[in-house]
Amino acid sequence: MHLPLDRRSPIPLYEQIEHHLRQGILSGSLAPGMRLPASRQLARDLGVSRITVETAYAALEADGLVASRVGSGTYVLPPPVLPPLPTRTHNACWPQWQQSLPERSLGARAAVEQMRLEAAHPDPIHFAGGISDPRLFPAEDFRKVLQAVMRRDGIEALEYGDRRGYAPLRETIAHVLASQGLQTSPENILITAGSQQALALVSQVLLEPGDLLLVETPTYYGALDLFRALNFRFIGVPLDSGGMQVDWLKTLLQQHRPKLIYTIPNFHNPTGTCLSEARRRELILLADRFDIPLLEDDFVGDLRYEGRALPALKALDPGGRVIHIGTFSKMLMPGLRVGFIVAEGPVYDALVRLKRVNDLATSSLLQRALRDYVTVGRYQAHLHRSAQIFRKRRDAMLAALRRHLPAGWHADTPQGGLFLWVNLPNGLSADDLLPLALRHGVDFMPGSAFFLDPAEGRQWIRLNFVAQPEEIIETGIARLGQAMRMLTAQKGDSPLPNQETCKPASR
Ligand code: PMP
Repeated sequence: MHLPLDRRSPIPLYEQIEHHLRQGILSGSLAPGMRLPASRQLARDLGVSRITVETAYAALEADGLVASRVGSGTYVLPPPVLPPLPTRTHNACWPQWQQSLPERSLGARAAVEQMRLEAAHPDPIHFAGGISDPRLFPAEDFRKVLQAVMRRDGIEALEYGDRRGYAPLRETIAHVLASQGLQTSPENILITAGSQQALALVSQVLLEPGDLLLVETPTYYGALDLFRALNFRFIGVPLDSGGMQVDWLKTLLQQHRPKLIYTIPNFHNPTGTCLSEARRRELILLADRFDIPLLEDDFVGDLRYEGRALPALKALDPGGRVIHIGTFSKMLMPGLRVGFIVAEGPVYDALVRLKRVNDLATSSLLQRALRDYVTVGRYQAHLHRSAQIFRKRRDAMLAALRRHLPAGWHADTPQGGLFLWVNLPNGLSADDLLPLALRHGVDFMPGSAFFLDPAEGRQWIRLNFVAQPEEIIETGIARLGQAMRMLTAQKGDSPLPNQETCKPASR
């Protein structure tokens, strides 16, 4: 028998032999009842010691994959049959407590999810998601980094580790932020399970149920859902092409005295706008004057395709007024679940304590791998490459919209980020359009998800322009155009000609 052994690998030879035999047994290529070569014979075939083969056989026997019979040899056993798992239980007789779970009004999108399942198009094109293109994830590089970390750090990489986060990763993040003009120390950084956990921790440290916070409207629906789940109340500040309309703030702050202002200043989700520099400065002044903390969600700040980078609110902070959160989900891979908070003063300690009771710690192994990946400069190269590709995709989507959508739509051209925020033509409603679009094989995020009052968002849709290659963008937008024409026809209006130009939106 020949097995491909790698003698330079740090994995011991007995483990390699065990691995190959295990794969053979589980895949069926070593059939049940087959006799494995005698250990002496296999040792000779592979040029290893007999004890090495016997150790591998013993491990397989311990797992019930082979059985040795004295004087006869070692035989492959049938692979273990696992009991079938029950499918989801449907039980009409739930106990009372199951039927009276507290209402958190989070079911609003359940209907949309159901619609997506029912549409059953054979080849749907997705513009709805909030992440970059999984085809561009640096998976192979990351696999190598992970292996190297396991080899280098061994079991240390599998412990809980420092509850504030792996210190070298915090240092690396501080360097990355400094290169973007935000000076901070690793002692002021707390690693979180994505920035979603950062949002949860910050808002819970600062607010009690029933408290009021101020959000942009529209805003990231994951934040709205979180704040609803925590029973916070909120008021919305409208946006225009320069981001949050800070002029409204003074009155709102005076009248309502919210406990927190939540803002997404760069390539806002969903609108793609950036808060102007003047407004950034004004916002800091107001937060200071009214003694209200600012929560800055910088989820894709690095992903700029053109124009000048604006200072982070945290970089303008005279000290302890702004809590900044960031994530590796959009720039790298969301499944890492690594985000971070930058904060100083008593709030930092309170955040560390809450993080600890929340989930004890973020994966030490992944933090170590991320730190190695980011320091070797592959991260910068990946960012640069992604930005070049995404810029082309943005332009391709805008061109496709001009070609395929009926006249009357408009959208600003975002200078970075992930999203186009499109105002629908001819009073079309995104909620009516979605089922038709899904049937035509294209998906988007309806605007209503992003508003405090869903009715306000009916004429808007959010399209992710980074997640698909250009040729698929073209097909997807053509499908969207067809769905719009069909909806227009159903409404009894005459179908509209294509629009040739894209005007900046006024919001
Ligand atoms: N903030 C914004 C604005 C987002 O869009 C998202 C994800 N879509 C998050 C935070 C949370 O992302 P993650 O937890 O993966 O970092």
